[in-house]
Amino acid sequence: MLGYLVILNLFQDQMSQHINLQRKLTMSQSIKVLRGQHKVIIIGSGPAGFTAALYTARANLSPIMFEGSQPGGQLMITTDIENYPGFENGISGPVLMDTMRKQVQRFGTQAYYKTITRVDFTSKPLKVWADDGTEYTSDTVIVATGASAKYIGIESEKKFMGFGVSACATCDGFFFRGQRVVVVGGGDTAMEEANYLTHHASEVTLIHRREGFRASKIMLERVQKNEKIKFALNTVIDEIVGTDEGGRKSVTGVNLKNVNTGEITFHPCEGVFMAIGHQPNTDVFKGVLDMDGVGYLITKKSSTATNIPGVFACGDAQDSYYRQAVTAAGTGCMSAIDAERYLETLGE
Ligand code: NAP
Repeated sequence: MLGYLVILNLFQDQMSQHINLQRKLTMSQSIKVLRGQHKVIIIGSGPAGFTAALYTARANLSPIMFEGSQPGGQLMITTDIENYPGFENGISGPVLMDTMRKQVQRFGTQAYYKTITRVDFTSKPLKVWADDGTEYTSDTVIVATGASAKYIGIESEKKFMGFGVSACATCDGFFFRGQRVVVVGGGDTAMEEANYLTHHASEVTLIHRREGFRASKIMLERVQKNEKIKFALNTVIDEIVGTDEGGRKSVTGVNLKNVNTGEITFHPCEGVFMAIGHQPNTDVFKGVLDMDGVGYLITKKSSTATNIPGVFACGDAQDSYYRQAVTAAGTGCMSAIDAERYLETLGE
């Protein structure tokens, strides 16, 4: 009887050890399940995204990057960049972005030409879905989705979009060789676009809704000195006028409204370039990440951390103030370092 009890105790001991081991295994497995397929996912491919990729790749974190609907970001539609350090004679936007891409690829960043259309940051691992439906999981996500050109929002603008209306002189200026164009806006973008268009168009008219300019002095002066550029101040576009022959649309002019007198005059032109600022590309994060009224992501002071642990934001998606390529690159670097330090807290 005693022998039987000893054997029973031994058996019970072994069973409880086995159950404890199973519990431990299940726990460690469930911890593993909480980790993502990737350590770092970067959404966006402007200077912020590429810099984040460069730093995380060089930290052996094997980042993957989603280039989005405008690979290379806004600089792809910028002509000469004279204020990015390191280029004595300036550099074209597309060349700079291509160089950044090659640099991150050299350190093993995996880039996908896909757009992230859905995210779930409610639990770990963090989940994102691409436009082809593929799910990706990660321990950290760096949001570098940038901002996009804004439009004035009138019906005729939509109607002639791509048929005379554009927000990118570098992309479309060539199509207006020897023709008349207008540029809307009073900031640096408008100045840059107006100047660039004088290489193609026969006449450029800058339309601005007030007399003061947001543009930097040097860029405004360049435009003022350019004999091919005329100014229509205190003026807005009331309507874009054109023809539509069975879907073959073209712009013939704009109805301009003087904001002081209300007077409307017709101004003939073939091209209309919008250069009135940008909107952050953060719709996919609505209700998930904290953002301001315009849509700029809110990050913690002196950091790129968002309200979700493990999710960091950099570049124009979170910067309504500086919005420069070099500041975007700077915050991209910060987000990579923030992500690396966060991963260390997970036991990397
Ligand atoms: P911005 O500085 O915000 O200027 C936007 C302009 O569009 C303003 O003049 C604004 O008028 C006007 N505007 C806004 N909404 C309008 C509407 N609905 N109808 C008519 N006009 C409207 O934007 P940005 O020019 O794109 O420049 C953004 C940032 O990028 C700036 O920091 C700029 O310095 C920088 N940037 C630098 C370079 C360069 O250095 N190469 C080139 C481009 C941009 P109000 O002034 O009346 O508000």
